[in-house]
Amino acid sequence: MTSPSMDDPRGKYPKPPFKQQTQPWPGLARDMNPPPDHGEQSYRGSGRLLGRKALITGGDSGMGRAAAIAFAREGADVMINYLPAEQPDANDVIKLIKAEGRVGIGVPGDLKDETFCRSLVARAVQELGGLDILVSNAARQQTRESIMDVSSQDFDDTMKTNVYAPFWIIKAALPHLKPGSAIIGTSSVQAVDPSPELYDYAQTKAATTSYVKSLAKQLAPRGIRVNAVAPGPIWTPLQVSGGATMEKLEQFGSMTPLGRPGQPAELGSIYVQLAAADASYATGQVYGAAGGSGQP
Ligand code: NAD
Ligand code: MG
Repeated sequence: MTSPSMDDPRGKYPKPPFKQQTQPWPGLARDMNPPPDHGEQSYRGSGRLLGRKALITGGDSGMGRAAAIAFAREGADVMINYLPAEQPDANDVIKLIKAEGRVGIGVPGDLKDETFCRSLVARAVQELGGLDILVSNAARQQTRESIMDVSSQDFDDTMKTNVYAPFWIIKAALPHLKPGSAIIGTSSVQAVDPSPELYDYAQTKAATTSYVKSLAKQLAPRGIRVNAVAPGPIWTPLQVSGGATMEKLEQFGSMTPLGRPGQPAELGSIYVQLAAADASYATGQVYGAAGGSGQP
């Protein structure tokens, strides 16, 4: 067994300025420059989630992919959901899950649809043979300078994806979750320090933090833990497909004390920690990873 390297977090990953780039939403990780790191080469498991069964929304890229890779390397079977346009990214993830000898299943579909959300959970239970980790991570983020530029359709799409979908999915999953199961939401520093140009998105992240804390209290008597991860600026497709202005993107992460954006790989172990059985007293918590600024 070789010891993991002691990395200096300052120089570990690319720093701004970044090249201008834009992709049609929802974007693909494989087309980003530089490509994000989701732990493909680096994450090493130690059986922390052996035999667990996980459903991860937005598992094709970004934080969801980092969690999917880490979970599989910790011994979990994993189903990921994503949009049909993201099939190329999803294929890369499923290949990595299967390379660990775990079950890896991809289910494309739109979470804005309640019927789809319910069928997704049903498929997870059936095809994984149960469900005990639910990572509600998918989200829509589209930057708009003014509230006047946020259309009712925008507002509705953001709410449906970020607020309604977790509600539908968790409700569908709950009857199947046994004591010891874990629900993990992805919140954001935006929940407590919202940017002016993310009016609709930021309030959905406040909602995420709120539902996590509410459900943690509600589900503790059933032995189900509910926690959230709150990332700062992370280099993912969401940011290059309308999530950030070009000016923000070029300097992405420069405002943090570490002076760079985080990479999804730097958060994979946090999802593992919140899912793992030895974190049994952690519920209702928000685990931040924001390069030294922001708060959960
Ligand atoms: P990402 O683009 O890699 O992941 C978001 C995923 O959401 C997409 O891959 C897509 O599969 C999914 N998605 C969006 N709309 C969907 C829909 N209608 N139906 C099904 N799937 C849909 O970006 P990411 O940054 O890894 O985002 C993951 C989570 O991290 C989100 O909850 C986001 O709010 C949160 N977050 C990101 C940052 C950041 O800087 N990147 C910061 C804080 C929080
Ligand atoms: Mg994606």
